[in-house]
Amino acid sequence: MQAQAYQKCIEPTCGLEYPITDIRIECDKGHMLDIKYKTIPPTSLKEVFYKRRDPMSNIFNESGVWRFRELLNFCQIDTENIDQCSKRLVSLDGAEGRQSKPYHMSKVSNYVGVQNLWLQPEGYNPSGSFKDNGMTTAITHAKLVNIKKIICASTGNTSASAAMYAANENMECDVYIPSGEVAPGKLGQAFQFGAQVIEVKGNFDDALSTSLKQASQGGGYTVNSVNPFRIEGQKTIIFRALEFLDWNPPDWIVYPGGALGNTSSCGKCLMELYEWGWIKKIPRLAVVNAEGANTLYILYNGKFEDSKLRWNKGKPDTSLVKRYYEYMDKNGIKPKTKATAIQIAKPANILKGLRALEFTNGVVAQVSDKEMLDGMALVGLNGFDCEMASGAVPAGIKKLVEQEIIKKDDTVIGILTGRQKDSGIPVDYHRNAENKFANPPRS
Ligand SMILES: [Zn+2]
Repeated sequence: MQAQAYQKCIEPTCGLEYPITDIRIECDKGHMLDIKYKTIPPTSLKEVFYKRRDPMSNIFNESGVWRFRELLNFCQIDTENIDQCSKRLVSLDGAEGRQSKPYHMSKVSNYVGVQNLWLQPEGYNPSGSFKDNGMTTAITHAKLVNIKKIICASTGNTSASAAMYAANENMECDVYIPSGEVAPGKLGQAFQFGAQVIEVKGNFDDALSTSLKQASQGGGYTVNSVNPFRIEGQKTIIFRALEFLDWNPPDWIVYPGGALGNTSSCGKCLMELYEWGWIKKIPRLAVVNAEGANTLYILYNGKFEDSKLRWNKGKPDTSLVKRYYEYMDKNGIKPKTKATAIQIAKPANILKGLRALEFTNGVVAQVSDKEMLDGMALVGLNGFDCEMASGAVPAGIKKLVEQEIIKKDDTVIGILTGRQKDSGIPVDYHRNAENKFANPPRS
């Protein structure tokens, strides 16, 4: 039987293809890879997915990732056959994505000035961030190719998720973290789940290059978002949002921007759904950088060498990216934000991110730490918990509304990527009565 799923280089002029069972994060020429499917999933599956919300004791229906398994069937199984699902698909007892759906948060809506605003907390995932969506698929691939040890670099959430799935699948797990730059709650998770923590002097970008080097020398299977199987699972964040809207796409989808794995997966998801005839309209993507880690903002908006970096139909000016990275290195410019989850200067998925922005006519904004903290606090006032990096979403929407890029009557979906794992941040925020939404203690 001919393989229905395969790996393919993202650059149209190259386009090298590989079987699903190949273990690689790039083509032979060093370009990133996509997972591709030869068959077009019928739109009648929308009804099937909806029905699975009553899981009938099936954890693969309960899982917010595997409920959509026909749209990421890289294992090429008969998805209705539970024995095949159980043998192949990795799940934390159906918990990944299970509780994730958009909510209307009225106080955030009023603050940003958009009434049709829906925020989707991904912090309800078992390890507390959106990473579980993609980790469950990456570990499924790892299991398919008989991996015994996984490896990643992390600002904290990836290591927590990787370590959790590794513990459950009896795999070894090495996590490379920037020393002193990871929230204590996240670091504690990696220790608790039995991962080997390796502290790297420097920032996340240094940790990632160290871990990729280790992986290339046989040190383990990489589960960072450069792994195309991670991107497949993260598509389900958007599936759930769209399903909530009866598959009528919103005007905007808004994410915080770090390594740009989410931006990439959102773009791939929308490209596929549009190509498959599942959606007729393409939402615009807004990516929100922290001011202190704003590489995408700078390059996309032409703030370096007056040149706007674009995917350019598969011919991006990669030399511009290189020159900007050299400029940062030469001038000692390091990413600096208290939102450590997006404290990244060299986004590994920048090219896939640009592709997503081009397909969606997207925009890139930046917000200050103060604005992110206000956003985080406001989400809290609606009874939801999110980390500081997720506060970039309400902060970014507010800014884009003020700039009249997002219109007040637009429908907007924002993704709150993770829950609070550094209790010191909200405590400090609320103790300072000068902060906009501070709730200081009385003595
Ligand atoms: Zn290639």
